[in-house]
Amino acid sequence: MTGPDRPRTVTTIGALRAELDLVRRQQRSVGFVPTMGYLHEGHGSLVERAARENDVVVVSIFVNPLQFGAHEDLDAYPRDPCRDAALVANAGGHLLFTPSSTEMYPVPVQTTISVGGVLADTLEGASRPTHLPGVATVVTKLFGIVGPSRAYFGEKDWQQLAVVRRLAADLSLPVEVIGCLTVREPDGLALSSRNAYLTPEERLAAPVVHRALRAGADAIAAGERSAPIVRQVMGDAIATEPLADLDYVTVVAAASLAAVDPLRGELRLLAAARFGRARLIDNMGTKAD
Ligand code: AMP
Repeated sequence: MTGPDRPRTVTTIGALRAELDLVRRQQRSVGFVPTMGYLHEGHGSLVERAARENDVVVVSIFVNPLQFGAHEDLDAYPRDPCRDAALVANAGGHLLFTPSSTEMYPVPVQTTISVGGVLADTLEGASRPTHLPGVATVVTKLFGIVGPSRAYFGEKDWQQLAVVRRLAADLSLPVEVIGCLTVREPDGLALSSRNAYLTPEERLAAPVVHRALRAGADAIAAGERSAPIVRQVMGDAIATEPLADLDYVTVVAAASLAAVDPLRGELRLLAAARFGRARLIDNMGTKAD
């Protein structure tokens, strides 16, 4: 039995544009899934959805130096190009775009995109100041290269999704930004390329992040409307796990990430914690009347 065809790999902006110009001239739609590679079923779910909703699906794999801080894991970021190609093929992707850093940034960039306000300054923005501007810049550039009708992002990176939605709206980019549900391990841990950094003990400890979010959501469902108390509930849950080093837990307005207290409307609970070398983030949605 043979598997699905390997997606074709394109490494230059010019070659990808030529190919996609032809696709668009044929009135076929382009769906786009930007990634940093070391793909897992979470990425796979984005590609599958893109394949259901578009004629041609482009998956980019680019470990974007702009979105890593000076002491972060840029050089250590896990890579497995062969496995990535197989996963994209099985999920129904057609084209893999794997540019080098010099292809993407032949000269140091002088133009960057940064989304202002609470949306990008808090949480990941506060912990990793260069991260979201790096993401916003590369995503805008990739949109310019790929020209997709639809682009797919995981809710797993909720703040990133909110930032991308906002920049696409603010800059009137002709792309529909689509958020996709987080794919999890059976014990609740959100799939992440960075889970590869976890030792066996840390792997056992890591689902505490999801349990903490669940505890916060349960407290809200039981009638709690105080944001500090819900944060406390989540923080206490994380504190039960000695291998977890808490960065933040919070509950905010889902779309704007603005503080809400008392809690009402569409809410998002978000958490970040370190387990040894791995910094893991996760989030969960809920509502309060
Ligand atoms: P990354 O390769 O980590 O930059 O992720 C590429 C895309 O996959 C982003 O839009 C992520 O939000 C999304 N993603 C990562 N993990 C998951 C997951 N567990 N479930 C769904 N989407 C995910």
